[in-house]
Amino acid sequence: MRDISLNRCILTEQWKYNGPIFDAHTHIGELDTLDKMLEIEAEFGVTAQIGIVHSKDGFLAAKKEHSERFIFAKYLSLSDIAHYNVDPVIDEISRTKEEGYSLAKSWFGPRWLDYIKDVPKGFRIDDPRLEPVFQALEDNELPLLIHVADPDTYFVLHYQDASKYGTKEDNLSQLEAVLERHSKAVFQIPHFGAQPEIHRLPNLARWLDRFPNVILDTASSRWMARELSKDVQKAREFLVKYSDRILFGTDLSANRGNMEYFGERYLAQRILWETNIQGKPLPFEDADTKDSGGTFINGLDLPLSVLRKLYWKNAIRIYGKPG
Ligand SMILES: [Zn+2]
Repeated sequence: MRDISLNRCILTEQWKYNGPIFDAHTHIGELDTLDKMLEIEAEFGVTAQIGIVHSKDGFLAAKKEHSERFIFAKYLSLSDIAHYNVDPVIDEISRTKEEGYSLAKSWFGPRWLDYIKDVPKGFRIDDPRLEPVFQALEDNELPLLIHVADPDTYFVLHYQDASKYGTKEDNLSQLEAVLERHSKAVFQIPHFGAQPEIHRLPNLARWLDRFPNVILDTASSRWMARELSKDVQKAREFLVKYSDRILFGTDLSANRGNMEYFGERYLAQRILWETNIQGKPLPFEDADTKDSGGTFINGLDLPLSVLRKLYWKNAIRIYGKPG
């Protein structure tokens, strides 16, 4: 493909894939920021999305005015979960669907431990005391978008204190133990299951083979571009083999709504998935590599049939058409 620039990205007909885009991982806040987000997304062909709700008012307004494009995700109370206080969480889960949400969200990026007070030492998400929460998700047929662990780079740069944050392997094994016990709930594990690093793809493949209820999203354009570009052949094989299980997602947040911010992230993923361009610098700064040579995109040139599933069909199959 020629001359990739932000303008080219807006002209969706320049890409291999020309259809509508479902963004399976966005964050939405107040209504004023939402309108700006929708305006930008329209320029880039994003017509449906999972909106992780951060404001009750924003949610109610979005539900009223934009129900035709949203699947809503509700945060479970992290502080209750952190203290094994499961009853209010179970109660929340039982009401989630009637409130207009389609899935629940929980976030265990290791730095969550810095935000919640007095987390019991040795907290684990696979602690038997949390079993009723996962059981309630199954019973209510409520999918869970569950973020566990973080990029390998974060464990090097930010989570050196393994006695506090655990190792990455330990974080992943806690989630695996939960997946083992709950084969009925749908788990959307964002950020490629926190395992887009080439050396982790075999483990991620093992999860997908073992747990048919697990799906992935591609949120964080930076992380996907950085890691999957490191071995085009292995990454491409993975994407093709598991093409029914991977949903396009960005992690874009309505309150950061400016054209450049959104556009650069769409651009990075579109180059990665759709083109055979090699060695393209990431169009924005990658804080994790800025002091070690930067991040470069090597396009995977995925077949159109795979792109259709990635950008649209998988999300619609799993969550239905919004509205
Ligand atoms: Zn997110």
